[in-house]
Amino acid sequence: MNEVPEGLPIGDGWVTTSDTAEVHFPYDGTLVDSYPVGDADLARRAIDEALGVRRTMAALPSHVRRAALLNAHAAFLARQEEFEQLLVLETGKPLVDCKVESARSALTLITAAEEVLRIHGETVPMDALPSGDGLIGFWTRKPIGVVVGITGFNYPVLLAAHKLAPAIAAGCPVVLKPPPQAPLATIWLVHLMREALVEAGGPAAGIQLVTGGPEVGEALTTDPRIGMVSFTGSAAVGHQIARAAAPRKVVLELGSNAALIVAADADLDAAADAVIRGGYYANGQACISVQRVIVQDAVREEFMNRLTAALDRVVVGDPRSPDTRVAPLIDEGSTKRVQAWVDSAVRAGATAVAGGDVDGRAFNPTVLIGVPDGENAWDEEVFGPVVAVRTVPDLQSAYDAVNASRYGLHCAVFTKSLATAYDAIEQIEAGGVVVNDVPGFRSDIAPYGGVKDSGIGREGPRFAIEEMTVTRMAVIRP
Ligand code: NAD
Repeated sequence: MNEVPEGLPIGDGWVTTSDTAEVHFPYDGTLVDSYPVGDADLARRAIDEALGVRRTMAALPSHVRRAALLNAHAAFLARQEEFEQLLVLETGKPLVDCKVESARSALTLITAAEEVLRIHGETVPMDALPSGDGLIGFWTRKPIGVVVGITGFNYPVLLAAHKLAPAIAAGCPVVLKPPPQAPLATIWLVHLMREALVEAGGPAAGIQLVTGGPEVGEALTTDPRIGMVSFTGSAAVGHQIARAAAPRKVVLELGSNAALIVAADADLDAAADAVIRGGYYANGQACISVQRVIVQDAVREEFMNRLTAALDRVVVGDPRSPDTRVAPLIDEGSTKRVQAWVDSAVRAGATAVAGGDVDGRAFNPTVLIGVPDGENAWDEEVFGPVVAVRTVPDLQSAYDAVNASRYGLHCAVFTKSLATAYDAIEQIEAGGVVVNDVPGFRSDIAPYGGVKDSGIGREGPRFAIEEMTVTRMAVIRP
């Protein structure tokens, strides 16, 4: 991969902008780099350019789209460690989490390359109805048109990979808007993928990127010429986009307050370990990090003892260190918000059995008990290293507590009973139910997405390709 050029990748080249912004390392505030900032005019120009290559992209043979993704995968692997270092600096996320992000991004590219070969339709038995006598019918999948991808700051490269790779696989030009807090590694990924696309025989303008805030996002998502919006971010912004983009298609991957249920028959060591691993990774800034722990009364004490003991293993500090598990949140505003939500829960009767305060710039890993309904620390997405534990008499009450939330992304259940596992899978209203692992478990080949306020549509290359294509029915009267 050649070095990243100056400017923004728009059309076949890179366009310089008058405005720039800086990215600072959340751990100590030092300058990481500055980047060019786009505006609504550049967003519209990128859509013009995307429309200009729409037919070319749609006509690229499968083997070319596959080659583009394989080239991108190889180029990514060659620079993987640099990506990880940059991700640590721009997101402030611990190195261990950035390594997971980069490994999963590479897997997403290769999985999309494989899915290219499985995009097909089927014949329709036209003679099933009298009106179809003598007709030949089949449907195929066609690219939906220009895909606008918008991503949040917490896993910027992985979220981008889940939009760019399926779009290329589907034959759609894509315009991406990365998060203003952490756009640097995404710019790198886009550069690398453009080179890979060109190397395979596709147009550079098939992949473009415009930086900026809501005004750029609005210009992209409300443009009537686009095929769809694929958004990953907060529920508030996602719901706003759905209204603004209508009647165009939207896929929304939004937030949640993921729950982990500890049944009376659970392996309590494993459950406590999962709360620690699943509650605090990425500094708790993950859409499926454990926020609500719902424990059956019978094992409350034993579980809490294990949980507080396991907390000692959570190292708070510099995200560049391989030992660090919790580092500062993305910015001071987030830290203040999390503190205010914890303080409010405590005023409402909750107790912080661990953490509850800030250490240097980092919010300490926190365990709250007794958070009442109506408190943000229970009802809303905290997006910080805060876990709230509640006890319930039976599993039905646990399912009811999970389902009372307006969110429904992933939920975990710890149990040794297959019957309980299956019952939970049946009863819990969520996009995914994980038994005996963290709710944050996600395989990039699986369908991923939420119900209720957590989203619409599914990602995972196979499922994203389905979202980015439309069926075209063909009827032939021979
Ligand atoms: P955010 O909603 O604040 O921002 C996301 C993106 O939307 C950014 O690029 C932002 O600039 C852009 N944006 C803001 N206003 C816009 C508008 N009016 N029109 C168009 N674009 C606009 O989210 P964030 O704080 O960056 O990310 C954290 C959120 O993302 C959390 O809620 C988290 O749960 C969610 N998330 C969800 C998933 C998932 O797969 N479900 C994955 C990661 C993060």
